[in-house]
Amino acid sequence: MTAAPPQPFPAATILGYPRIGPRRELKRALEAYWDGRATLGELRRTGAELRERTWKRLTGLGLRTPPSNTFSLYDQVLDTALLLGAVPARHRAGTDEDTCFAMARGTGAAAPLRMTKWFDTNYHYIVPEIGPDTAFALHAAKPVSEVRQARALGLETRPVVIGPVTFLLLAQAAPGSPASFTPLDRLADVLTAYERLLAALAAEGVGWVQLDEPALVTDLGGAELAAVRTAYERLGALADRPALFVASYFGSLGQALPVLAGTPVEAVGVDLVRGDLTGVEALAGKTVVAGVVSGRDVWRADRERALAALLAVRERAGHVVVSTSCSLLHVPYDLEAETGLDPALRRRLAFADQKVSEVVELAALLDSAPARAVPAAPDRTRAVPAAPDRTPVHAPDRAPVHDPSDAPAVAEPERAGRSPYGVRTAAQAAHLGLPPLPVTTIGSFPQTGELRAARAALAAGELDEGAYEERVRAEIAQVIALQERLGLDVLVHGEPERNDMVQYFAEHLGGFAVTRHGWVQSYGSRCTRPPILHGDVHRPEPITVRWTAYARSLTDRPVKGMLTGPVTIVAWSFVRDDLPLRDVVFQVADAVRAEVRDLEAAGVSVIQVDEPALRELLPLRRAGQEEYLRWAVEAYRWATSAAGDRTQIHTHLCYSDADQILAAVDALDADVTSVESARSGARLLGEPAVKGFARGLGPGVYDIHSPRVPTAAEAGELLEAALRVLPADRLWVNPDCGLKTRTYEQVEAALANLVEAARRARPPV
Ligand code: GLN
Ligand code: ZN
Repeated sequence: MTAAPPQPFPAATILGYPRIGPRRELKRALEAYWDGRATLGELRRTGAELRERTWKRLTGLGLRTPPSNTFSLYDQVLDTALLLGAVPARHRAGTDEDTCFAMARGTGAAAPLRMTKWFDTNYHYIVPEIGPDTAFALHAAKPVSEVRQARALGLETRPVVIGPVTFLLLAQAAPGSPASFTPLDRLADVLTAYERLLAALAAEGVGWVQLDEPALVTDLGGAELAAVRTAYERLGALADRPALFVASYFGSLGQALPVLAGTPVEAVGVDLVRGDLTGVEALAGKTVVAGVVSGRDVWRADRERALAALLAVRERAGHVVVSTSCSLLHVPYDLEAETGLDPALRRRLAFADQKVSEVVELAALLDSAPARAVPAAPDRTRAVPAAPDRTPVHAPDRAPVHDPSDAPAVAEPERAGRSPYGVRTAAQAAHLGLPPLPVTTIGSFPQTGELRAARAALAAGELDEGAYEERVRAEIAQVIALQERLGLDVLVHGEPERNDMVQYFAEHLGGFAVTRHGWVQSYGSRCTRPPILHGDVHRPEPITVRWTAYARSLTDRPVKGMLTGPVTIVAWSFVRDDLPLRDVVFQVADAVRAEVRDLEAAGVSVIQVDEPALRELLPLRRAGQEEYLRWAVEAYRWATSAAGDRTQIHTHLCYSDADQILAAVDALDADVTSVESARSGARLLGEPAVKGFARGLGPGVYDIHSPRVPTAAEAGELLEAALRVLPADRLWVNPDCGLKTRTYEQVEAALANLVEAARRARPPV
């Protein structure tokens, strides 16, 4: 460390903050730039304005040294790859921004990098490609310029960068790497780049750097723990560097805690919402950055519990400062913007800015609390045995909302239920009469500006229900006609009535509230408004039946009804924490089950129940995963098993690393499963588990996250690869995901190519 003692860590901090803009300014600026409607200069200006606004807001709320480099044009992992020079040759472009967008979105000539979920959140990061020959070279322009921008405003900041171990653990081996290679093999070289980064930041006069290491809350093996030790001993030994704050979040550090404790880093962040105090005394002599205000939910913190935890850390480890449990990236900006919420609910809520205030208030309380005043805090993870990854932090004034006598139908036996898969397929084949390799889509068709405008006009009272209904019906009729013309086999109504696959259902179910401005970034410029599930869930009336029935009336081909599954509805909502998560999921499953029954009664013979978030709620550590999968699968089966044998149940698992949970996917007992495959270069098909998968499978042959249109030959190659592991009578042809983010021009061309590829690949009759 430098001769001078480190500057003290601020008493109150946050690990990160949203960046899309309170009114999604960055989304609009990005999309304008991508569409050629704005210049790079305009995009840069929007970024600079958003950063300035954020820092001023945070200091206004009482944070002394706000974080910097938490801004990103696309993704913080991708930014780290750019920082370290880990840019595949195919993506290099004239500016940093264009290189970044080429990596994230691909170009006409180059496929993008893979995208996957950030731990157990609904945020997606870009997976860096690291090979034995990746030439790391520090390119620190972004963090350095943010430090300078803040300083020009009179503010000192703490740059935040993904740490070296998490960066390498999240990376994938570059194509062509030897089988024995893993990105972690490049630790020594990556550390050289980090050393240069620290030197560059020290030269800027930066006092503290935050290195995010969320991967340390997963099960680590010996090699990974050794990498943690190596990394922080090496960076700690650097002569001229800022003080180091290693932040962990989304769970407990476990075995990584004593390892970090043994390195010269000055501060360690622990998540005390999902994790606990175990081992914290080992951090004596360092600053413990205690995450006591949840960055993953929208509930007000329980101050007494939070303060007790802070005092317990102080007692055991000495120096504690107050923080959020993770970045506030995962919650909306400001509750003040939500004027339409029920006041009783509103009192229970805190969004990002309210959470910043909670952190600041707790720091003041801690400062005035006498030493050794309060006994050790309760071990928080033990509070909810049924849901080990969700800890209740009840605000004191939260009314009990669940009547235990009103228990969900979990225990109800599966009654008559469905026959085994083999019996059902025969019934479905006779009923549906589909060709081999049937072509279908995942549900949504492009959401045109016109449709969104109609929905906005309806919400604003400028369009009446009847006129809106007509608008949606016209869209459905067009989508059906298009699919007939292109020759698809199982049609969809296109989901034009839905703003979002979860929000739409939340708006039609009791027990949920929805927000107007509560946007949370999902990936790139995409955001969702997670609904707030605050009470008991019930379905007052059928939700989707009239749209699907209308679509059916327009065609002789089968039309697939589209529902969102119970796990996904819960995963993409902010959920009450006074009930075990499992019970909440089963309440939603009851509602979906009723909808399945009503669709079937309306004559719908194919029903898809999407569970793209099935993998997302999987506990990060192996302990608990089996139990979670057991009840999650049970909830899905409960939701779908009301259907008869002739009704074909589909599920869509999206970008869920399905290979890792294929056994559970089989247990879902869906007749057909569609899953992302094209974007990851058909990696899934190489998995041994796919060969053993005994039901219908539709590995995506069209990467819908890219504007690129696949040729029939490309799609055909993917189908041939699939036919090497799956029999023709169980292979389906479909895109990776829904088409709502694409244009009609792209979709028409791509689907025509898919139909062509399927025709060529079908076995001759
Ligand atoms: N049915 C939804 C759609 O097509 C599924 C979206 C998803 O998996 N994320 O949009
Ligand atoms: Zn999907």
